[in-house]
Amino acid sequence: MVGSAQLTATGAAVTEIHRPGTDRPTIGVLALQGAFREHVRMLDGLGAATREVRMARELEGLDGLVIPGGESTTMGLLMEKEGMRGPLREFVRHHPVLGTCAGLIRLAARTIDGEQSLLQVMDVTVRRNAFGRQTRSFEAPVELSLAPGVSETMHGIFIRAPWVEEVGPGVEVIARCDGRIVGVRQGHMVGVAFHPELGEDPRLHDYLLAEVRASRT
Ligand code: GLN
Repeated sequence: MVGSAQLTATGAAVTEIHRPGTDRPTIGVLALQGAFREHVRMLDGLGAATREVRMARELEGLDGLVIPGGESTTMGLLMEKEGMRGPLREFVRHHPVLGTCAGLIRLAARTIDGEQSLLQVMDVTVRRNAFGRQTRSFEAPVELSLAPGVSETMHGIFIRAPWVEEVGPGVEVIARCDGRIVGVRQGHMVGVAFHPELGEDPRLHDYLLAEVRASRT
């Protein structure tokens, strides 16, 4: 095992542990803004190597990516400013990705309020802040179906969450809360409206790692 540190252009030290000969996947967590540290913590706990991603070249060599929650418009502006929209679109076409809350919005093809600079890789229409101002944040059970015929319950933490208003033909609904669509899958991309990284239930992160392992064999 060899530990190496390198400096990014922002001067931040990136320490990565390379373990040649093992299949330990490296998952990037987009760290422009928002709740990225909690995703890193959860992925670390599951044994993945992680890398915070702030610029396009930090996508190189990653096996999968998380786009976290935060403020969707700000995240979109930062993606443009850092020249990351194109490279992210390219990356998520070929690798497993999990988008949560604002991350789901960034993956969407369309939003009801005409949000700009979306990655437009998932054929869904998303309504931002859909649960209304009175219920900005709440916790509620989510019906989750990650495999055909399997329906489980997951505790959902929603923070000014979107819901999915419409899905295209290639999109599966994998999570609902109170009848609303709060989770979708299209190929190797999964987007959820809630925050699995803020709870203790690793099922969605586990799912991402399983997708990564399957995509590498
Ligand atoms: N309401 C936020 C937005 O539309 C998303 C909130 C979140 O990611 N927790 O940008």
